Amino acid sequence: MPGHSEHAGVKLSGAPNREELRNSPGYPPEGLWGKGPLAFIECVEEIPCNPCETSCPQGAIKVGKPITNLPVLDGNKCLGCGACIAACPGLAIYVKDYTFSETEALITFPFEYWPLPEKGRQVVLVDEMGEPVCRGEVLRVVDIPKNNRTPLITVKYPKEFFEEVKSMQRL
Ligand code: SF4
Ligand code: SF4
Repeated sequence: MPGHSEHAGVKLSGAPNREELRNSPGYPPEGLWGKGPLAFIECVEEIPCNPCETSCPQGAIKVGKPITNLPVLDGNKCLGCGACIAACPGLAIYVKDYTFSETEALITFPFEYWPLPEKGRQVVLVDEMGEPVCRGEVLRVVDIPKNNRTPLITVKYPKEFFEEVKSMQRL
């Protein structure tokens, strides 16, 4: 296909679809989703970048050498702390927790559009293409200098949309 190349099942240019994201080495396998908070890394372009690797206190992300390697997540080591989210200049990482409650999951994602939502606000959650998926309630907004002007938003939402949800619509 003109303008695209393939490597280990990962498209190297253009907007990746969900299957391509699932096949990338930073995307945890479904068997681990139920273990608690977990990072999902949607980084499928071989660019020279590795702050995700150095930001993880658990050593759960490996880029290694060359620095253009795609980040590999060890989902067994990841504790879902979220330290890698704001460290990623590509806004390619979010953390999800399937175990939040019987009926709801949590997502924490980077969000660099103002205004920011306030705690308790109902927001529209979207998929990787920006298409609306469902509604959710904002539980936390973290906007601190340490995060390089990348606010982190935590939202609870219905579990049946666990995988589809990636971010929220701008307010
Ligand atoms: S969420 Fe925390 S433990 Fe998991 S990969 Fe990111 S920095 Fe490491
Ligand atoms: S910091 Fe972000 S953009 Fe850079 S390699 Fe890691 S996941 Fe990819």
